[in-house]
Parts: sequence; structure tokens; C-alpha cells
Amino acid sequence: MSKQKKEKKKAKGDALLGDSSSIKPGTPSPPAPPVGSAQQEAPPPIEGPARAMVIMAHPDDAEFLCAGTVARWCAEGWDVTYVLVTSGDKGTHDPEMHPEKLAAVREQEQRDACRALGVKELVLLGYPDGFTVDEHELRGQIVRLLRLHRPDVVITWDAFRASFNHRDHRNVGTVTADAIYPLVRDRLFYPAHEEDGLESHQVNEVLLAGADNPDYTVDITAHWETKVAAILCHTSQVGGRTKADFLKDRAEREKRDGPKPIEERFRRWSIRRPPRKPADAPTVTPAAAAAEVSPNGRALEGVAGIAKGQKQA
Ligand SMILES: [Zn+2]
Repeated sequence: MSKQKKEKKKAKGDALLGDSSSIKPGTPSPPAPPVGSAQQEAPPPIEGPARAMVIMAHPDDAEFLCAGTVARWCAEGWDVTYVLVTSGDKGTHDPEMHPEKLAAVREQEQRDACRALGVKELVLLGYPDGFTVDEHELRGQIVRLLRLHRPDVVITWDAFRASFNHRDHRNVGTVTADAIYPLVRDRLFYPAHEEDGLESHQVNEVLLAGADNPDYTVDITAHWETKVAAILCHTSQVGGRTKADFLKDRAEREKRDGPKPIEERFRRWSIRRPPRKPADAPTVTPAAAAAEVSPNGRALEGVAGIAKGQKQA
């Protein structure tokens, strides 16, 4: 095994264990290799607590793909924000169901899941399910949210996988990838943001979920039950499955394969380029800038606020 492969393997095994390479919000990144060489060596494991943003197409995407990682990060004190581009208003076989009703049901299910995981904020952009497009307006909204929340790490769909996928997953993955590099970093893209007090920002790490060839693993064994609880919040999507069903599946798997860590796997992009300037704290409050996030007025929703029936926007 080459030295590089060994280091890569070690990086997987050490994922999220504390060391001096932690990403600390609001502090400059550690010295980085020159642009173009960043992918040639295994980067250090992603450490926290840090800020993360999970950008997905539909309610329940994040729960199935990465809720164990999110639960782990939240338990470790990370600040996690969810952005959902659609409200999943086509996801039913019920002949009596209507899109508006289904969207409301699924938005509430997502709020419940966020609460179960400890996610701080949920942003619902309200695009119609199945009709997302890789275009300027959505891209600008994602850039604005990145400049507002300033995440160190973003989890989104892998838009580049060769196997079967939903068009919303592909388009959200593409828009988010383009927003992260280079749009959010360079101030002359979407200059109106600067007028609103939002500075350019660099995302250091991207974890692509649903990837064909994952190269980064997070051990979620200790948070698996929280993940299951979050999945089960999506009652309209789980076909009557219960926690007992998940426990039975796990027991059968362990009987067959022996006890193994439960993992979530991602394709990792470690950007870690030298920032053009230190990442300062946002100069505007989320509430002040949120009103411009969404085209339909359903902008920024704090999960805690929703619990009390309040909307920040
Ligand atoms: Zn989906």
C-alpha cells in the first residue's frame, strides 16, 4: 500500500476525533498547499465544533443520507443549518393528496426531524418538487445563504454520480457546487449581497452525499438511534415503518456480518485554499438579511421559533 493510501486510510479511521487540525469558526484556515495540489494528499479529518450547512432537494433527503453525521455534529456542539430547495410536494401515491397540503405536511415533518437532531435553523426555499433548474436565481439564493451563515462545511447531493438519480438532486448538487466555487468566495459575484452587508466567504470542506465512489466516512454508531428517530419524523414517507423495524434490520445485519460500526459515506472536496481575508463574523443578523432569501416570502425559519409558532422573517 502506498504512503498516500495509508494516510488516506488513517484519515478515514480518525474521522472526527479531536486533534490540533480542528476547524474553528471565525479563525483563518491552517496553511494550505498551493491551488491545484489540494486534492493530491489526504487532507486531515474534518474536526469541529464548526458551522455546517446541509443543502438538499427534498424533506427527508438529509435524514436518509447524513442524519447520523448531523446528529453527531450537533452533539459535539456544531452549529448546523438546513436548506431545503423544495418542499417535496409530489412525494405521494395518495389519490386524495394535493401538492399544497403535502408540502405543509412535509415541511412540518422536516421541522420535527430538525428538532430531533438539534439542527438550529431550517430554511425552506419553496420551489416546486421536480422542477428545480440549474439557474441564476437559485444559485444566487444559495450564495446569499452561504454568505449569511458562513459554514465551514457543506453537505449536499453528489450531482456528478453516474447512477440513477432524481433531477432535483442533480440540480441542487450542481447549483450548490457552483455556489461554493467560486461564486460565494468572490465578491463581484452577486454584488448586491455586499450592499446588504454580506461579505464573501470560503467554504473549506464539501461532503457529497449519495456518491458513487465515497472516500470519506463518518462513524455514526453512537447516533444511529437519533438518525432513526429523525427518519421516522417523515411519517408520510416511511410506509408505516417503526423503530422496531429498524432495530430488527440492524439485529439481522449484525447477526449476519458481526458487530460493525455504522457509517455514513461521502465524497469529500477539501478546498482549504488560503482565504483572501480572515473570515469575520457576519455583519448582519440572520433576521435582517433573511427576507431576501426566498422568492415567495417563506424565507428563514428558526426551528426553535417554529416550535413556538413564530416566524423570524
Ligand atoms: Zn429527494
